Amino acid sequence: MISKTHDWAARGACRTSDPDALFVQGAAQNRAKAVCMGCPVRTECLADALDNRTEFGVWGGMTERERRALLRRRPNIRSWAGLLETARAEHERMISSVMARTEPVIARRAG
Ligand code: SF4
Repeated sequence: MISKTHDWAARGACRTSDPDALFVQGAAQNRAKAVCMGCPVRTECLADALDNRTEFGVWGGMTERERRALLRRRPNIRSWAGLLETARAEHERMISSVMARTEPVIARRAG
């Protein structure tokens, strides 16, 4: 479940980086976004930035410009935390379903 507090921030991949590195412009934003790509709390971070209309910086792998564009495209979303949590749960269910179907096949072929 996506936390309503910021306790996820302590697990962020950027926790030991220079905080200013997330508030850059131009090509430097791609370096900042790269840090987010492997972050274990990317969903929480992005949801927080979208729900709070955070204006500046790279959060959850998106620049402020990308977030503004997303918010304009989806003006009716009231809770990005809820939406992203649902999407993540559906993704995890789908992966579990695929694994449940393929593991017996793999085991038969390996055995
Ligand atoms: S998604 Fe990016 S900005 Fe957010 S906590 Fe992770 S590394 Fe930091």
